[in-house]
This record gives sequence, structure tokens and C-alpha cells, in this order.
Amino acid sequence: MAFWPSVVVATPAHSGIGASLTYRSELSLAPGTLVRVPLGSREVLGVVWDCPGEPPAGLSEAQTKAVVGPLEGLPPLNERWRQLVGFAGRYYQRSAGEVALAALPPQLRELDASQLARRLKRRAKAAVRPEAAHVPQTPPVAALPALSEEQVQALAALEGASAPVLLFGATGSGKTEVYLRATQRVLQQSSDTAAPTQALVMVPEINLTPQLESRFRERFEPLFGAGAVVCLHSGMTPAQRLTSWLAAHTGQARIVLGTRMAVFASLPGLRLIVVDEEHDPSYKSQDGARYSARDLAVYRAKVESEALVAGLTPLHQGPHPHPLPEGEGAKPGAPGEGLVLHEQGRSPDEKGTRPRCQVILGSATPSLESWHAADQGRYLRLEMPGRIGGGSLPRLRLVDMNHQPKGAVLAPPLLSAMAERIGRGEQCLVLLNRRGYAPVLACHACGWKSGCPHCSAYRVFHKLDRTLRCHHCGFAERVPRACPDCGNLDISPVGRGTEQVEEHLTSLLADVKRVDGGPARVARMDADSTRLKGSLEVQLAALHSGEVDVLVGTQMIAKGHDFRRITLVASVNADSALFASDHRASERLFALLMQAAGRAGRDATQSAASEMWVQTWYPQHPLFDSLKRHDFPGFAAGQLAERESAAMPPFGFQALLRADARTQAAAQAFLNAAAEQGAALPHRDEITLYPAVPLTIQRVANVERAQLLVEAHSRAALQRFLAAWQPVLLACRSLPEARGLVRFAVDVDPLVV
Ligand code: ADP
Ligand code: ZN
Ligand code: ZN
Repeated sequence: MAFWPSVVVATPAHSGIGASLTYRSELSLAPGTLVRVPLGSREVLGVVWDCPGEPPAGLSEAQTKAVVGPLEGLPPLNERWRQLVGFAGRYYQRSAGEVALAALPPQLRELDASQLARRLKRRAKAAVRPEAAHVPQTPPVAALPALSEEQVQALAALEGASAPVLLFGATGSGKTEVYLRATQRVLQQSSDTAAPTQALVMVPEINLTPQLESRFRERFEPLFGAGAVVCLHSGMTPAQRLTSWLAAHTGQARIVLGTRMAVFASLPGLRLIVVDEEHDPSYKSQDGARYSARDLAVYRAKVESEALVAGLTPLHQGPHPHPLPEGEGAKPGAPGEGLVLHEQGRSPDEKGTRPRCQVILGSATPSLESWHAADQGRYLRLEMPGRIGGGSLPRLRLVDMNHQPKGAVLAPPLLSAMAERIGRGEQCLVLLNRRGYAPVLACHACGWKSGCPHCSAYRVFHKLDRTLRCHHCGFAERVPRACPDCGNLDISPVGRGTEQVEEHLTSLLADVKRVDGGPARVARMDADSTRLKGSLEVQLAALHSGEVDVLVGTQMIAKGHDFRRITLVASVNADSALFASDHRASERLFALLMQAAGRAGRDATQSAASEMWVQTWYPQHPLFDSLKRHDFPGFAAGQLAERESAAMPPFGFQALLRADARTQAAAQAFLNAAAEQGAALPHRDEITLYPAVPLTIQRVANVERAQLLVEAHSRAALQRFLAAWQPVLLACRSLPEARGLVRFAVDVDPLVV
């Protein structure tokens, strides 16, 4: 007796290898089993997708290779996980194998059978440790804060909701506490150790918010044991990632806290997915399968819910009265579509009792996609407009730079406001979206500029280590003593970055005294200052303890932190985003400024006087009107109306075909040939293909980059076209005019067009 498992392995979509490969096996292998298989001259890890007892038509025994063997001791990846991976592959135009293998911890590919057996044994031992077993199921009540009225309301509404929930809560409204309570509710549903319930909590950048991890550990380790909370993010070592992954896969971990990659974690008992700061661009992957973890979270919750309901049907008398929408296998599904599970006709006490996997998208500045879905009733919007403790949001102070002294980096009124705050023992944040000292170094005699020899971009001047560094390819050199072109000694920085603002502030605030009589202290936090492991924690601690009075930094200082003594936040140079050609630039700027403002006045006793200062040359810009009123709904309505009239997302649907090549001509020739041949495909009339254009930063690391935009009026039409286009793209690679093409990629629902 032989079996013919079809196995997915890590082949990128453009390698041209189909969805799965057929092997031979003496054993029947359950779908989802991890196996080692030969591929060319290598042995690789794969996932069994199916295992029929007959070979596929036309394939003989001699043509197939035998499976090397399964990874012993690992339960198979369940059907819902495979459905998620299969969907992500189809939707984002990659192979299921590429998505599946990228989702598994890399170390799983390297361990041999005995190493893996040892890992699993260690896990099993850890699970029966006395402190992990017999943990109390009710927390010490006194330890939990009393919920605010808004939190109570939100949690009550959550309990009955079966559509995805958009938790629209102001900065400081206590969204995290809502996530914690919702998580606890879900985890306490099972005392059954054979099928423990689990929750997935995603955050944009876990390293930036060590606070969140400790809040989850403090809350849940006493309840569910020391290994109840695990993390999954790219900053972990391969060994740590494997440990977390195994804990989640075997059900020992109850909560996975992670970044976008965690959306693919194997969680057999998944009942809740939280996507915190759901608007954050880091949820969209920018390489490999360019998936949106937020959209996949919504899809995943739907799949899990359907499976739970299906599993329950035999318990009911007859079929469920309200059949769920068809699974995505039947019709071209889409993340976020077809998700409203209708509630009509169910009695109130039946509400919320149906087993399901919930998804909560939380933000003070939701993405326009999610906002629109809530407008349409596909998502349930829950609002928490007030801040905990009744504090108010900071007042907006616009500084018209047209009326400030020429060349001022920081306007005098802003400086004196900061000085006053420091004198009172309060703290300030200064936000600037550019690291380094100056974005360009220039010679005023001959016009030389610090261009990167490998990219169409300038190298940034870093004064601290006297280097010119390219932020695109990493190329770095010592700053030249004189102009490399004309020998002029007077080369000078143009524009400013965080290093320069830190330097300026240090000298401008030199005479300002802290409450303790010492001089004011300025610090900087950006990707440069936090490069060393542990340095971010040290810098955050210095701010929390009050050691630092002013923190200058890039957007990383605006994200999620719960600072208690910040009463003034200033954005000093954000104008470029007001007029960017990218239609999402103002959405991003608004979110950034709202989030930054949200760092101020979090302590209600100080919030009345807290301020958000924005230096701008365009104080009349309408964006500031909404910002002044903290009016996200107003801002969103305006943006959505503009998008609708231009048939932009979320009213239109987009994909980009991107090409990297040795020459710009080859990149564009590939794209234009793909468009030309695509025009001959069926359903061509449903989509618009635009001409190939170079990217804004056209050359990076000596590779020329170009892209082509595809638009459609419906997601289904776009998906139909892309699926038909895939073989055309593969064929176009070998056209003579495309010689020099390095790679191409399709980006579905791109963030930057
Ligand atoms: P958000 O994520 O909505 O910006 P957080 O969840 O960080 O807000 O909450 C803001 C602050 O309020 C935190 O310090 C948190 O500990 C505190 N907090 C939240 N809920 C409550 C509550 N019910 N009672 C007292 N403090 C709370
Ligand atoms: Zn010169
Ligand atoms: Zn470069």
C-alpha cells in the first residue's frame, strides 16, 4: 500500500513551481503533517496538504520521490491554519508553500528528529511543573482596576458581537484594559486542559512597548501559569521563536503576543484576535507575500468561527437556523468581506453563546478601510471617546512659521513654553521624522551634494560619528574634509534631523533649571540611539523616572507609550506630508499627530494644561481644523469623500506590479510587456492598467525600480485578473527586452502607490 501526499514547500510564486508537489509514502500522512522531502539535491521541510491513496492521473511511481519522513511528535497543523495559509497565498499571489514555510519558525527546518524530540520533551516537562498546574481560575479581584463606564459598555457590547469589532477609543481611554478583560473572558471559557482556549494579541512593534508585554504577564501568569504568555516577533532568536511557536501549537501557551508575523501562529484553541493600533502601516508586509496582518486577522477569525459553528451543529436539533456565509473556497473571498454573521431572529439569551472567534481592531485613528467597513455595518464600531480619569486631550497650538525669525528651527514661543514646563517638573516630547543630523551635506561653491553612489538618494549626515550614511542601502563613509568635487572646505548641512534638533535644544535650554535646580536634560530616541540591545528600555526608563526633561525623536516616540508626565508634545517639521502625491500621506500624518498628541496629559491632574504644538508654514490647511477638534470622524468623512470621488481605496481596488532590474529600461519593458499581454486576457474590461513608471527613489543599491498600477472596481474583479495574469508574468520574464530583470512582485492592496 502506498500513498501519494501532495506537499507544499518553500517555492516562491515566481519560481514557476505549482501549488504543491506529489511524493510517495508508505504511511498515510494526515493533512497538516510536517514532513521532510527531497527537492532537487536538497532535503527540505514541507507541509502535507492532502494524502490520497491513488497517484494523480498521469503520474507513475517512478516519477515520484519518497517522503523522507514526518517530524515525529508534532501534531499536524489544523485545517483552519491551512485554510488561512492557502487563502493568503491565493489572495496575495504567492504559493501556499512560500506562505506556509515563511510562517513556520526557521529552526524547525534545521533540527533533526532527535533534537526536536528533546525540545518537545522539555516542553512536556515544563507543562507539568506544579506551579503551572492547578492554577486558580479567578483572579484576586482587588488587583483589577474598576472599569470605567465606557469600558463596561464596550465589554458588554463585545460579548454579544459576532461581526469584527472596531474599538474606536481615544488615546488614554483604556483600550488595553478592554483587551485584557476580553482575553480573560475567552481564556476562562475552558478549564478543559485537552482543548485550552487561546488568544492572539498583535501590536505594531513589540520592542517599542515593553509595557504591554509586562501588563499581559502580570495579569495572566498568576492565572494560567508561568508559560501562559509567549511572544512572537522578528527580534527574537531562532531558538526563542521555536520555543514560543511550539508552546502555542501544543496549546500550552494561552496568549501569543506578537507583531504581524504572529497572525500565522498555529493556535488550535484560538477564540480571540486583537489588532492593537490597527491603522499602523507595519501590519502590511513589504517583502515576500505582501500580506496585511490586519486583514488576515479578520479573515482568520471568520474561518475559526465557521469551524466552531460547524463543529457544534450536531449538538443542536437540526441545522443552525442562520447558515453562515459560504466559506471562501466557494467564492473569491476577501479579507474583511462577508463577515457579518447575522444576529436577527436570535433570542437575547442566545446572543453571544454561539462559539466563535472574535476579532477586535483597536485604534484612536482607525484606517480608512476599517472606518468605512464600520460605516457600512460590516464591522461593529464601539466608541470610547473619554480618557481614563476624565482628563482632556491636549490643546492644539499651531505655530505659523511665516511669522517666525528667519531660519529658526524651533519657534521662540515654543521654546519658552517648553522652558516653563521644565521649570514645573513636567516633560516635553519633540517629534521630527528624520534621523541623523541633516538629510544632505552640500557645497555652496560648486553645488555638490552628498548623493549615494548606489542609490538615487542623498546620504544623511550623521554628526555624532562623522559619517555620511545612505538610509536606503546602508552605504556609509567618513564625512569628507572638503568638497570632493572642487576642494572647497566650506561644506555644510542642509535641513535638519533629530541629532541637530537635540543639539539645538541642548544649547537653547542651557539656562533653564529643573525643579531640582539642575540644568534641563535633553535626550534623543530614534533608530540610531536604540540600535544596541536594551538601549531602548534604558531610554524609556530615563523618561519614565523623570531623569530626562525633553525627548527628541522620530515617530517611535509617538507610539503607544503610556508616559505620565508629558504635558507638551511638539511636531517641528511635518509639512512635506501635507502635499505629498501619495493619497495616504495625510491619513498617516493625521494619525501620527493624533497619536503624538495622545502621549501628552495622560495623567488627568495635568491634562487640562497639556498642549500639542505643530510648527507649519501652512496653518490654514484643513487637516489642522479636524486636528484642533480631535475630530477623527470629521477628518475620515472628508478623506473618504475624496477617495470615493477618485475611486480610490476603499472604493476602488488596487494592486502594483513591481519590477527590479539592472536597468530602468529593462524594468519598464518587463512591466509594459506584462500590461500588453494582460490586455488580451478575459475580463480585461473590468480593470485599468496604467503605464510603467519609475519609483520615487528609482535606484537602490544599484537596482533600478519601476512599477505599474492595476485598478478595479471590485475586489473579485481584481483577483480574477491577477490570477489569470500570473502565468503571463512568468512568461514575460524571459522576453529579450526584459533581460536584466532581477525580480518582480505583485503587491495586492498596496499601502504606498
Ligand atoms: P489607550 O491604549 O487607550 O491609549 P491605555 O490602555 O494605555 O490607553 O490606558 C491609559 C492608562 O489608564 C493606563 O495607565 C492604564 O493603566 C490606565 N487605566 C486603564 N483602565 C483603567 C481603569 N479602569 N481604571 C484605572 N486606570 C485605568
Ligand atoms: Zn564643491
Ligand atoms: Zn544607497
